[in-house]
Amino acid sequence: MIRGIPTLDDLGDVSGKRVFVRADFNVPIEDGRITDDFRIRAALPTLNWLRERGASVACATHLGRPKGTPNPKYSVAPIRERLAELAPDVELLENLRFDPGEEANSAEFAATLTEGFDLYVNDAFGASHRAHASIVGPPKTLPSAMGLLLAKEVEVLLGLRNDPKRPFVAVLGGAKISDKLGVVEALLDVVDALVVGGAMCFTFFAAQGRPIGDSLWEPDQVETCRRLLQQGKTIHLPEDITGVDANGNYATFGTRLPDGAKGFDIGPGSAAAFSDIIMDARTVFWNGPMGMFEDERFASGTRTVAQAMADTKAFTVVGGGDSAAALAQFRLDTDVDHVSTGGGASLELLELGDLPGLAALRGAPNAHD
Ligand code: ADP
Ligand code: MG
Repeated sequence: MIRGIPTLDDLGDVSGKRVFVRADFNVPIEDGRITDDFRIRAALPTLNWLRERGASVACATHLGRPKGTPNPKYSVAPIRERLAELAPDVELLENLRFDPGEEANSAEFAATLTEGFDLYVNDAFGASHRAHASIVGPPKTLPSAMGLLLAKEVEVLLGLRNDPKRPFVAVLGGAKISDKLGVVEALLDVVDALVVGGAMCFTFFAAQGRPIGDSLWEPDQVETCRRLLQQGKTIHLPEDITGVDANGNYATFGTRLPDGAKGFDIGPGSAAAFSDIIMDARTVFWNGPMGMFEDERFASGTRTVAQAMADTKAFTVVGGGDSAAALAQFRLDTDVDHVSTGGGASLELLELGDLPGLAALRGAPNAHD
């Protein structure tokens, strides 16, 4: 058990048992070919754990958004092929979202999924914030457990929330504050300092009455940012910004942007300051790039923060698809302690301390009854 949730060991003797594994094999596919099989390989420890102990294993995943109808474009066939190479005797069912019952959380669909199985394992962290049939249905009837991947995510993320080594710093960026407001508020309660970069900082600047030129911001979030700034918690905002001036030329600004200017990255002074904060922390959670890193001219703030994440002695956790992509682009992804496999799920777990998929596992029947 980890935080009240059964783990693989709690399943008892699995030899000869038929196990249904909900995995997250939602991989990028182009022209029928998998471009990155990371998510398939990430499930292997759980699949092998079960196979080595004599269980027979079938998995299921969603893939893309076929919206409840079978569509060859979203067939799991390429995944099945790759899985056959990595774990030869593991079966893979067709795309769960070919049936409208998956997203509608239909009990009937869940019953067809679990028919003929003895045990259920959820290893799909990236889908566990959704109350879909394959996530919350099976634990109502089958003895269940979380897989090794899901258990690691839960241990790391709930550890951050409940007992982080201090100082605990959260570094947040990305495009929109509105996407992340819930987690920002929850993090403010537990962190010693919040560091804000990305386009998100301009809404905070606006709340401070600073001119932001034509930078990306969210007028309807200004009041919220003002309230957050007034909470008395330490919020570090950038002290300089790089971007383009009104003529479209590359430029560095202070914290007041001229008319027509656009901020696309934190400046070198801010990057150095943020890096120092990360180096001095004992726990760091990072979500959201510091700028528009896809454009090399505006990647340096994100690169400096990523490098500090790699260099610091602190326990480092990265959540978020684009942040993880940035880290991989800089080849620093193996230098942090944990890169979460779930974007939305990791933020929701940090914010609420629980997910529908975890709650379902907690209520599952005991394997020994
Ligand atoms: P994550 O996926 O890590 O949670 P988000 O999806 O919230 O991150 O945000 C990532 C996007 O934010 C990137 O595409 C990046 O280009 C964009 N972004 C960051 N800073 C800026 C900025 N100053 N102006 C415009 N876009 C930005
Ligand atoms: Mg993103």
